[in-house]
Amino acid sequence: SDHNLDYPAAPDAVDWAAHYPAFAGTGKTPEFADVGCGFGGLLIALAPIFPETLMLGMEIRVQVSQYVQDRIAALRTTNKQADESSPAPGPYENVSIVRANAMKFFPNYLPKHSLSAIFFLFPDPHFKSRKHKARIISPTLLAEYAYALRPGGIVYTITDVLDLHEWMRTHLENFPLFEPVDEETLRAEGKGPILDAVRQSTEEGKKVERNNGDKWLACFRRIEVQRE
Ligand code: SAM
Repeated sequence: SDHNLDYPAAPDAVDWAAHYPAFAGTGKTPEFADVGCGFGGLLIALAPIFPETLMLGMEIRVQVSQYVQDRIAALRTTNKQADESSPAPGPYENVSIVRANAMKFFPNYLPKHSLSAIFFLFPDPHFKSRKHKARIISPTLLAEYAYALRPGGIVYTITDVLDLHEWMRTHLENFPLFEPVDEETLRAEGKGPILDAVRQSTEEGKKVERNNGDKWLACFRRIEVQRE
């Protein structure tokens, strides 16, 4: 259920040390958020590539989020730093997940300007018009995402549903705090591994691949503003 008691009242009430024990005391909070992360393919792909970056998945389905939690725990155990005296955290210590309805509780987890990347990968399409309000991108929700993203941070969206692609792109284009950024520019900034994972690493993305479906990518930058 979405009962409020299941959720932290605010980001500073989240016990990040429980999520990322190897980073306890560093003051770090998640920098990448995967909204509707499903089975966690993106997070698992990116964790070893950016070992110092904390990453958080949000997933509403209880069993799916439990699966991801177990998957991360297993990866942490089997990849434990061979040299116990090494100060470096082992791989996958930087990745975690919460079971949460991101449409209601995203701001309860992620502080202002804390994120450098937010991912909406193959979100549920909610085809019918009367269901569009259930879509994970809307003007109200974009304000929350923009608040959590630091200036210069990137929103990554991808879908195999053209109508949803146009919906997400239009809403992001029309929102004053975001500007479109093309793939070439992002690759020139060293974000190629992120883009590759966005296209290829998620379970849904692999399914689309197997079915030879199209993948529509759209990325946006959180703009810098003088006064906020
Ligand atoms: N991103 C993953 C991928 O590419 O494989 C999963 C895609 S799946 C089609 C959409 C996921 O979003 C589902 O796992 C669903 O449970 C989750 N989801 C839908 N609405 C959500 C919400 N309000 N908050 C969190 N997760 C949500």
